[in-house]
Amino acid sequence: MTTAIVWFRRDLRLSDHPALHAAVSSHERVVPLYIHAPEEEGSWAAGAASRWWLHHSLTALETALRGHRAKLHLTCGDSLSVLRETIRQSGATAVYWNRLYEPASIARDSHIKKALRADGIEVHSFNASLWCEPWEILTQQEQPYRVFTPFWRNLRPQLQVDSPLSTPLLSPSASVDGGVTLSQLGLLPKIAWDKGMSEAWTPGEKGAQEMLELFADDALGDYAHVRDLPARHGTSRLSPHLHFGEISPRQAYYALHTGIQRMDAKRRPDLEPYLRELGWREFAHYLLYHFPKTPKENFNAKFDRFSWARTSKSQLKRWQQGRTGIPLVDAGMRELWHTGWMHNRVRMIVASFLTKNLRQHWHHGAQWFWDTLVDADLANNTLGWQWVAGCGADAAPYFRIFNPVTQAQKFDPEGRYLRRWLPELADAPIKLLHEPWKDPGLLKRSGYPAPMVDLSGSRQEALTTYQRMR
Ligand code: FAD
Repeated sequence: MTTAIVWFRRDLRLSDHPALHAAVSSHERVVPLYIHAPEEEGSWAAGAASRWWLHHSLTALETALRGHRAKLHLTCGDSLSVLRETIRQSGATAVYWNRLYEPASIARDSHIKKALRADGIEVHSFNASLWCEPWEILTQQEQPYRVFTPFWRNLRPQLQVDSPLSTPLLSPSASVDGGVTLSQLGLLPKIAWDKGMSEAWTPGEKGAQEMLELFADDALGDYAHVRDLPARHGTSRLSPHLHFGEISPRQAYYALHTGIQRMDAKRRPDLEPYLRELGWREFAHYLLYHFPKTPKENFNAKFDRFSWARTSKSQLKRWQQGRTGIPLVDAGMRELWHTGWMHNRVRMIVASFLTKNLRQHWHHGAQWFWDTLVDADLANNTLGWQWVAGCGADAAPYFRIFNPVTQAQKFDPEGRYLRRWLPELADAPIKLLHEPWKDPGLLKRSGYPAPMVDLSGSRQEALTTYQRMR
């Protein structure tokens, strides 16, 4: 009887899991293993909101495995040592895993692959989270793409509507001693600030499938029109599920495509705008693979000369707490704190306000998002911040400085989003809701702060600073 280890990482599901599938096909017994090793993630160990998600996602995985008579072996420590010890105890002859694409994970996994092979152990790794391997798509000059549209033009025709792998038939896991319990990992916050996240999310594979169904039934048809409206549940909200690998892009594409095919041809929604967003996720991972220093360094080196304002702890605090006095910025930051998620358009606006109106370095924003987002993802977060700050690949032109007032008027015209997250302004008439500083009496009565900067003056300063850099 041969035994294999399946090393779960950010692929916390049982279906469409190539490593699990291959291990079960070639071995009689498997040991499902999860190793908690935050020190191996370099400077990017999971933040507080991600740890909360991870705890619940691992709980869901344990339960799902138990339903298949298998047991998750949960442990912590140096990954190579844990793998060797698990091999020793279980008699495993092979290790299977799905690939990660962050620079620290690539370096760690390459080292482990080499070491285990030198020990005489088979190692098999798979792609379970991307449509294409980042090294497979290059320009005609064999260089990585730096601009999204040609990248997508290359990738899009290659996408197949492949039927995902089903959950394999598992036999009882080989037993391994030691290990820890989930609560021993200490992933949950010590002070209970996670109520809003618990109300908003169901981490785990089942939760991901339910979220996908909800999107297919309620929002996909209108996605192109309502995806920019933060008051609507108009996007898929699959980002944390995708980040933790509770669902794969292939599963999402397959389910949505087959669902659409069953509809009357005249009523079929256009899937392209949604696929394109998944394409941005693909591009972000592609860029991180080819330009691994970009979580810290400007993609566009010209921005190394940009004159950021001196770091201001008090300004950062007001931004983080949603007390800037600019309603759409504050609503977004409060949504983030409460639910661990923020609507994409609002992410762009709060990021623009921080990096342009306040001219605080994009690193500060990226770091705060890293700690507070349940979907914090090194590739997507880096691309998002560099894009808004103007220094990224295919970035928004610097002079595109979002005006949070006109953005709110356009994308939250009735103020539903603002009223939800700014209860002190809930009764304000719509004109004042977008610009409450126009009525000092309202500020006084509600306790809502006056703006911390003048929007047009700070915009002008940002543009002048940019001109100096050029
Ligand atoms: P949908 O509109 O339903 O899109 C489907 C999927 O496509 C998303 O789940 C996501 O995986 C992907 N996607 C959508 N937009 C983008 C994008 N612009 N870039 C890359 N992938 C995208 N996304 C993260 O997953 N993690 C982050 O840490 C993150 N940080 C961001 C920081 C900033 C400053 C900005 C502007 C954007 C950031 N994004 C990040 C991208 C985007 O805001 C979220 O992916 C999106 O809001 C998630 O909601 P959704 O699942 O409903 O998206």
